[in-house]
Amino acid sequence: MKYVYGPVPSRRFGSSLGVNPVLFKTCSYSCVYCQLGWTQHMTAVRSSFFPPEDILAEIEEAANNSRLPVDYITFVGEGEPTLNSDLGFLIREAGERTKRPVAVITNGSLLWREDVRQDLMNADVVSAELDAGTDGVFREINRPHPSLSLDEIVGGIAEFRREFEGRLWIQVMLVEGRNCSEEELLALRDRIEVIKPERVYIDTPIRPPAEGWVKPAGPECLVRAHDILSDFVGIESMDITSPETGLFDSSAFSGPEEALISLSKRHPLREEQAVQIISSFSDEIDSAAILTALVSARKLGCVEYNGRTYYISSEIRRA
Ligand code: SF4
Repeated sequence: MKYVYGPVPSRRFGSSLGVNPVLFKTCSYSCVYCQLGWTQHMTAVRSSFFPPEDILAEIEEAANNSRLPVDYITFVGEGEPTLNSDLGFLIREAGERTKRPVAVITNGSLLWREDVRQDLMNADVVSAELDAGTDGVFREINRPHPSLSLDEIVGGIAEFRREFEGRLWIQVMLVEGRNCSEEELLALRDRIEVIKPERVYIDTPIRPPAEGWVKPAGPECLVRAHDILSDFVGIESMDITSPETGLFDSSAFSGPEEALISLSKRHPLREEQAVQIISSFSDEIDSAAILTALVSARKLGCVEYNGRTYYISSEIRRA
């Protein structure tokens, strides 16, 4: 499969069939914590990357033949999904053809555009990233395309919230020492108050980040963020800083090597997840031998982060 992967376990969407509608690591940001590494195609211009019917054919095939339940069709992929100018059609058709709810995980940077807001109207859930309340921290953490402004982005997300009949969530990624101060969190709260999302998810980088210096937020930062960001009437804040649990569906792949290379491009794999994927083909296979061979052949990278071992695609560029 070229555009669709999984289902993979998701902390918010259960068993989620991932859809990638853009070229690898095409994004309007280059976040310091990105699990896909440095942005290789930085742009704020939308385009039609692939034939939409090819993407839809894969979605239908994967949703109909999956061995695991498909709780959501999730547009997320290998960069920023709203950069695909066919997204509105893809969302509408994916929902109608599979009869599954559709979610979009976006950095929110293009929601100031009317066409992007219209495209997302047919989704059931939109989760938008917002990590900073001040322009300096926004540029430091998200490293946006120079044409983008935080004021415009927040205004666009707020406008979308007023028009959208589905569920709008905000996800905040906390990076230790960067957006953990009381001052920054209060500024972020002011931005979130303008948007009035249904829910705020508090997250921290749990997988190997683009920049080696990035550290997950410590307990003090997490407690402060919950105290400050939960302090609105009617907005719930939820912690998703624990690693996800659940199984990966690798039935669409011809063998463990192909499954590991493909899945790790979208989703850096903890060691036990890589072993589960290999075992799903046969209990007889020597997982350690396969992983060692793929790393030696430079088809996978092996990275230690925050006390765990991860396997990541060799296409991911990081410090
Ligand atoms: S985390 Fe998302 S928004 Fe940030 S660089 Fe990666 S793909 Fe782009």
